[in-house]
Amino acid sequence: MTSKTEGFSFTETARDGHARTGVMTTPRAVVHTPVFMPVGTLATVKSQTPAEIEATGARIILSNTYHLWVRPGPEVIETMGGVPKFMGWPHAMLTDSGGFQVFSLAALRQIDDEGVTFRSHLDGKKLRLTPEESMRIQRALGADIAMAFDECPPGGAELPVLEAAMRRTTAWAKRCLLSPWREGQARFGIVQGGTNTALRLRHLEEIAGMSAGGREFDGIALGGFSVGEPIPEMHRAFGEIVHHLPQGKPRYVMGIGTPYDLLEAMGAGVDLFDCVLPSRNARNGQALTWTGRVNLKQARHKVDDSPLDARCRCSTCATYSRAYLHHLIRADEMLGARLVTHHNLFFYGALCAAARGAIAEGRYAAFAREATETMREGDEIGHPNVNAPKTAKVRRAEKRALSRETSSPTDESQVAPPAPQETDMKAMKLLLNRRSVSKLDLPAPEADVIDRVMEAALRSPDHGALRPWKVVSIEGEGRTKFGEVLAAAYKRQKPDASEDDLASAARKAMRAPLILIVAAELKESSKIPEIEQVLSAGAVAQTLLLALQAEGFGAVWKTGAPAYDPYVKERLGLKASDHIVAILYVGTAKEEPSEQKRPKIKDVLSPWEG
Ligand SMILES: [Zn+2]
Repeated sequence: MTSKTEGFSFTETARDGHARTGVMTTPRAVVHTPVFMPVGTLATVKSQTPAEIEATGARIILSNTYHLWVRPGPEVIETMGGVPKFMGWPHAMLTDSGGFQVFSLAALRQIDDEGVTFRSHLDGKKLRLTPEESMRIQRALGADIAMAFDECPPGGAELPVLEAAMRRTTAWAKRCLLSPWREGQARFGIVQGGTNTALRLRHLEEIAGMSAGGREFDGIALGGFSVGEPIPEMHRAFGEIVHHLPQGKPRYVMGIGTPYDLLEAMGAGVDLFDCVLPSRNARNGQALTWTGRVNLKQARHKVDDSPLDARCRCSTCATYSRAYLHHLIRADEMLGARLVTHHNLFFYGALCAAARGAIAEGRYAAFAREATETMREGDEIGHPNVNAPKTAKVRRAEKRALSRETSSPTDESQVAPPAPQETDMKAMKLLLNRRSVSKLDLPAPEADVIDRVMEAALRSPDHGALRPWKVVSIEGEGRTKFGEVLAAAYKRQKPDASEDDLASAARKAMRAPLILIVAAELKESSKIPEIEQVLSAGAVAQTLLLALQAEGFGAVWKTGAPAYDPYVKERLGLKASDHIVAILYVGTAKEEPSEQKRPKIKDVLSPWEG
């Protein structure tokens, strides 16, 4: 017989296919599910006051154990009465176990059966996290819901890696159940297994059926999704796995996702979500709306008097024009990030609320299909021509939305006028504005953008059709591994290098969300001299830089010692004779790069006087 957590309960209230609504009660809040939990990493949902978070409809937020452990430390927070009291948040909070951050952020980590040893991303200090330590910190942070400490393998991990992670996660889950409990604090177990349904179901049985020290988990989470696996794989896995989770307990998919991911997951029966996407993308000027993603950096919004989202009732959409938001984001004003963050979180709240309504009325499938179609149709990001005017279908959807919202304060001035047609960026303007961007952040270009910039690069001068080109792309978890390669290369060059130097060498791989390594595959038998082959690969790198800028992304060309290191080449799958000409760091510009002083034409160009 196991005892229940005092003050915590979950009741399913309606069901439509696998989708369901429910009520989750914690000591601090009554939460209607399915629901999105805004991420408050450092005891703050970045840029939002608790009243603003509340206005998005959220009654539960997530905080990150790892970050709060490193700063300001659990002792400070415990003294201040726990995270919710510390930050003035009157509702519920869930904390993650710290595991995911250790696996994604920390350099030079070592996993053993007891726990994980790693270095702090802040000061390089050596730290150790175990199931017991994670539970101790989460008790001190005062969460309503604490998560079991798990090992999260990277996306696309091989079967033996997945199985080893599952074995550890099971052993650690038991130790979490056996750790001292905080009164009223619920504890959720985590199921791993990647996108492999058989593994997931096997692990689910272990975690959901687990009982130790007279306790069992109050809810079950699926971890290890959205870690680099193909999106259709993840959606398929939701459909095959989620409905097998216990019905009487909340189901939580950690760290997802886009509005499309949420719609898929809710259809599969998921109750809880969290993701940094709506707040992080807002800071880069990306808004999520009922008519798809909007890139506020684009010139098409410059004199657009319409609200960000005609259907949205948030204070940002009720007060400000797209033109004003475009201006704030372009000028990197704090208010821009604040207003767009608020809208994005409000939209996620509204999406979940609309889903709850649709489930209760038994029309979830139709609701999800229509929402997905409208969002895809109007999506501004990753489309071939981002400056194209809105399609007639999107305009109709916006108009319908406006006429439905009769109680919202719409007058003529708020009805969207047609966006002014911008001509495509002239090639010359692009060339004259080419510049390096070294402060880079998410989002990275998506697959279709990469395809286009690669198509452009493959038109580089090819020296007698030799095409001595190779491009290696590194992103996501791959960057951590590449960081390890950089650190190892550094150590081979400087055997007495300090731990700090090694950590800083490894961190170079994390400076941008995407790295493209351009190499010349030297053909020694060719009549084309080596330097011309290298120059041809250089042309590929330059075209990539220009094409990425044309697509609205930033990039910087670096080389340095690793480019000439045979060990680095070998680890990248290149031959010793290959020549790395560029390490391109790619992402979204964090700020407008400052204007560089350029040489004068007359210093470079001189007429030949014979
Ligand atoms: Zn809004």
